[in-house]
Amino acid sequence: MSTSLHEPTDVAQAPMELLRGMLEEAFSAHTARLTELTVVSRLPDRGGYDAHALELLTVSHRRGVADTARALRRMAEGTYGLCAGCGKQIPLGRLHAAPHVPQCALCQPAEGDA
Ligand SMILES: [Zn+2]
Repeated sequence: MSTSLHEPTDVAQAPMELLRGMLEEAFSAHTARLTELTVVSRLPDRGGYDAHALELLTVSHRRGVADTARALRRMAEGTYGLCAGCGKQIPLGRLHAAPHVPQCALCQPAEGDA
C-alpha cells in the first residue's frame, strides 16, 4: 500500500507514480469484481447472470488481475515501460491509455490472440 495517495503531482515529473496508482486501482477493481462474481456464481440463480456471461466476465477480470499484477511486478523490478517484444520504451501516451500493456503497439499481438 502506498502512503502518498492521490496527491496532486506533476504528471510530467512523476509519470511512474501516476501509472502505479492507476495499476493499483485497476488491480483492486478487478479483484473486487472477481470476488463478487465468485459469490454470485455460487448462488442458485447465479444472481440472474447467464452462465456464459458470468464465465466471460470471470475470465476477463481474472486476466485483468494477472495483467495488472505483472505490470506492478515489472515496476518493482525496474523493467516497467520497456516493450517485452523489442525492448524499446513504450510511449507514455500508450501507458496512460492502458498502463498494464507489456508491449509497444508494433509488438502487440493481434486482438484476441493473447
Ligand atoms: Zn516493441
